[in-house]
Order: sequence, then C-alpha cells, then structure tokens
Amino acid sequence: QKTEERLSFQAEVTKLLDIVVHSLYSDRQIFLRELISNASDACDKLRYEALTQPALRDGLGEFRITLRIDAEARTLEVADNGIGMTRDDLVHNLGTIAHSGTQEFVRALAASDKKGDATLIGQFGVGFYSSFMVSERVDVFSRRAGDAQGWHWQSDGGGDFTVAEAEVPSTGTRIVLHLREDAKEFLETYRLRSIVKTYSDHIAIPVVLLDTDKDGNPQEETINEASALWTRPRSEITEEQYTEFYHHVGHAFDEPWHTLHFKAEGAIEYTGLLFIPSTKPFDLFQPDRKTHVKLYVNRVFITDDAPDLLPAYLRFVRGIVDSADLPLNVSREMLQHNPVLKKIQGGLVKRLLGDLKKRAEAADEYAAFWEVFGSVLKEGIYEDFERRTDVLELARFRSSTTDGWVSLADVVARMKTGQEAIYYITGDDPEYLKRSPQLEGFRAKGVEVLLLTDPVDEFWINSVPTYQDKPLKSAASSAAGLDQVADPETRDEADADKAPEDQIEALAKALKDTLGDAVKAVRASTRLTESPVCLVAEEGDMSLHLERMLKQAGQ
Ligand code: ADP
Ligand code: MG
Repeated sequence: QKTEERLSFQAEVTKLLDIVVHSLYSDRQIFLRELISNASDACDKLRYEALTQPALRDGLGEFRITLRIDAEARTLEVADNGIGMTRDDLVHNLGTIAHSGTQEFVRALAASDKKGDATLIGQFGVGFYSSFMVSERVDVFSRRAGDAQGWHWQSDGGGDFTVAEAEVPSTGTRIVLHLREDAKEFLETYRLRSIVKTYSDHIAIPVVLLDTDKDGNPQEETINEASALWTRPRSEITEEQYTEFYHHVGHAFDEPWHTLHFKAEGAIEYTGLLFIPSTKPFDLFQPDRKTHVKLYVNRVFITDDAPDLLPAYLRFVRGIVDSADLPLNVSREMLQHNPVLKKIQGGLVKRLLGDLKKRAEAADEYAAFWEVFGSVLKEGIYEDFERRTDVLELARFRSSTTDGWVSLADVVARMKTGQEAIYYITGDDPEYLKRSPQLEGFRAKGVEVLLLTDPVDEFWINSVPTYQDKPLKSAASSAAGLDQVADPETRDEADADKAPEDQIEALAKALKDTLGDAVKAVRASTRLTESPVCLVAEEGDMSLHLERMLKQAGQ
C-alpha cells in the first residue's frame, strides 16, 4: 500500500453520488446493466487494439464477463478481460464526469433539490456511479492491456476515493461491490439471471455466472444470449430487446422513436441497426457535430468515430453498422475518404430518409420527431445537395394562416390565383412574426407565409431557389410581388382615398431626407393595410433577421 493516494471527486460527481446514495430508488438493479455495458465496451476496445498488437491478448483466452457472488462477504463481483485502466484512467474515468451532458443533468438534479427526482437517474443513467445505489463500498482492480502494473481504486461514495498500486494477476477490470444491507437480493443467482436476461441479453460477449454446486464444485453458466443482436433475424427480436440494445449502444435512456434494422445485399454487404431517439441528446448542438454510429467489421468493433458513415445532419441517429467488406485491420486513418464507407453512407442516408418519409404520413407522430430534430435535419438542405429535395420534402414549418406544421407541398397546394412564389419570413418568434406589419398585405389577400424561426433557416433558405418550380421569396423583401396576387372578391377598392402621386413622392422624399443613411430608400407600397410604414430588405440584401443575428454575434 506504499503508493496509496487519496483524491477528491470532481464536485459534480460528489453531488451525483450524494443523490445516488441517499435516494430510495426502485429501479436500482440497473447498476448491473451499467457495469456489464462498460465491461462489454472494454472488451470491444481491446479486441480492436489487438488487431494491430496481437500480443496484448496473450494468455487472455476468449472475452468474457464474469459475475461472482460471495454471500458470506456480501459481495458481488463483475469482472472482464477487456482493455483495463491505468492509474490515470481510473482517476479520470471514475472520478470525473466526462460527458458534458451528464454534468448538466447533475447540476439540474442537484438544483431541483427533490430527492424524489431519483426516477430521473433511471431515465438518464449515471453509468459506473450507479454502483453506489447498492453498495456501501466499491473496489476496482484494474490492469491496462500491455502494462505490468495493476491498480486498486476504492471509494465509499463520499467525497473522495483512493488509488494504490496493486497486484492484479491479469489484464482487465474486476469490480467488487460491497453490497448494502438492504441490497442483499443481488446475492441471489435467480435475481442476477433475470436482470441479465432483461437488460443485457443483447451483449455480444458471454456473461458468465460463477457458482458452486451443492458439493462445492465450481460451476459456470452463461446467462445471456451472447450473440450480437444485429445478426439475429428481426422476427426473433422483441421490442424490449431493441430498446435495451439502443440504451447500450447509444448510451441513451429514452425510448427510440424509430428503429431501423436491415441487411443490405449487393456490391457491398452490410447490416445496419439504427435508432432515432425520442429526446434530444445533450451534445446535439456541440460545434464538432459528431455522428454516433458505431462501425463493426465482422462483429469486431472498429470505431464510434468513423467520419464518413453518416453526414452531420443525421448526427442524432444512434446504432451500429457491421460490414464484412472492409478489412479487419482497417485503421481509423484508412477510414478517411474510404470509398466503401462512402457507399455505405449513401445507403444509410437513403434508408433513413425513406423511413422518415413513410413515418411523415402519420402527422402527429412525425411532429414529435420534427420538434426534436427538425432544426438539425434542415442542415441537410444546404449540406446535401444530392438529397436537397428529399430533405425539403421532410421539412415542416409554422405558417401564418394554418396552425400546426405544414409542408412545402401543402403551401403550394394552397397558393392563391396569381401567386407565383412561396413566401416566407424569418425571425425569432412565430407569434410575433404572424402579427408583423410586413405581412399585412399577405393577410389581406389570404396568402400563406412560412414563419422561419430556426437560426439554421437563414442558412438554407438562400440555397433553395425553387420548390416544385415555385421560387421561394421573402415576404419582407421589396420585390415580393404581392401585387400580382388576386384580391379577395370582398376587398373594397380604396382608390377613392388614394393620395395623389406627387404627394406620395414628396412624403417619401421628406422621410428619406430625415432618415438619411439609416435607410436605403423610402417607397410607397401596397403591402400595408393597417400600419403606416414597415421596414423591408432590398432584394438581394441580407434579411433583417440575419442582420440582427450577426449584430448580436458581434459581427
Ligand atoms: P460511460 O460508459 O457512459 O462512458 P461510465 O460512468 O459507465 O460512463 O464509465 C465511465 C468510463 O470509465 C468509461 O467511459 C470507461 O472509460 C471507464 N470504464 C468503466 N468501466 C470500465 C471497465 N470495466 N473497463 C475499462 N474501462 C472502464
Ligand atoms: Mg457506461
């Protein structure tokens, strides 16, 4: 114990542990799912590293995750022969919260100060730290593949933990849970069997229960299915199994909104098991716009960071792709601009957009998706030239004349006689836009205007000249062309009240002289029916909303 160090948890971890330890939480058996999930990830990582450094696996045998019960000592052990952890890994991985999303979650949880919010833990998951829901103390023994030195990490879930050098006989990680008095149920083999069946059946690595028979002879029993879920036929997979797999692979805790499981045959063969979440992942708007589909080659995990597997506008998708048409020893560098991956990407995008199109037929269900991920999908309109029309057709908008969501096709179908363009207006708030004086003329003629309030709208709108041959035009532009739209039959011709041309001109000139450089021009307009004046952008100029956005950003 010569090297023992005592270190403090990151403040967020201490808060989290305080909640985890002190809340009465009914779904606490999920700690086992979390530990098995980590063990499986650790085996995947070593399997990948060993492709180029086979010596790392010398003497390790087949990958497996073992559960061992010691009823007398009241301990449950979860061990793996995966990648293992160095001292620094232990300190960092088990002492801080790496995911910024989890950090935000913890702050919210601690601030709410309702211990009853512990149900959120189950929905959200706290990974390794969930061990403390059932343990009064946790020991972690670990040795990183390729290292001779092992380490012992220990904590009682208070504010600190210790790390020390330790004899660890073989590569991998062994976690010893000293169960709380009220958690003795997890010493029962039938209980463990049932938890593993429920939550970890899809894990591709065998989960082995080590036990002794009545004569004291050691016994081993594999208690999960231990084949990669995506290799099984769809008809044999239940919805619960898909959901559990999604939780594992996506580090997610919601229900998937959509599940897509398929085998692509042809020039390149691959299997995909993809999920669209129902809630927003925390990193959705991080600047790196990282995608989250894991790449496997013949069931060997390669990377969760393959650059070309999916375009950034589909970064909300979770899941795996497994192909036999990439070399097993493919390095992460070789994956850059890889033609096989490019082809797979084409296939994945096509299927995903195709499924979205089908699901868009159920308007309410689709709205639930659109409200969560629409602003991300719309990036595809200007980033995926080839599929721009497909993405445009999937897009839904708020409109000045209709409640709920409308599509461009709806708007075209409702165009008025003489209306030649699809109109839109950009801004922050749809309710405010609806009442904008700039739309007065449109309201009077019953012309529908799309209310674009996502920041991303400013980016794609200029890259789409037409939809179904109709130009997209800003209602706030001077050249909106509203004059050509037929007046509703009931509208009075107000010509009698019309001021003489020369007076209008004189007024416009007087206004321009007074306002000076603040405006480009002052013109008489037919777009206003109630307000005396409104601001418009010159055709070809930046929209007023974009100008405001850039000003706020300090540009
Ligand atoms: P997550 O799995 O979402 O990253 P966890 O809290 O479950 O979060 O685990 C934190 C980190 O600790 C993991 O990302 C991994 O780096 C490390 N870790 C946990 N368990 C193991 C294990 N059995 N073997 C190797 N590393 C592990
Ligand atoms: Mg985990």
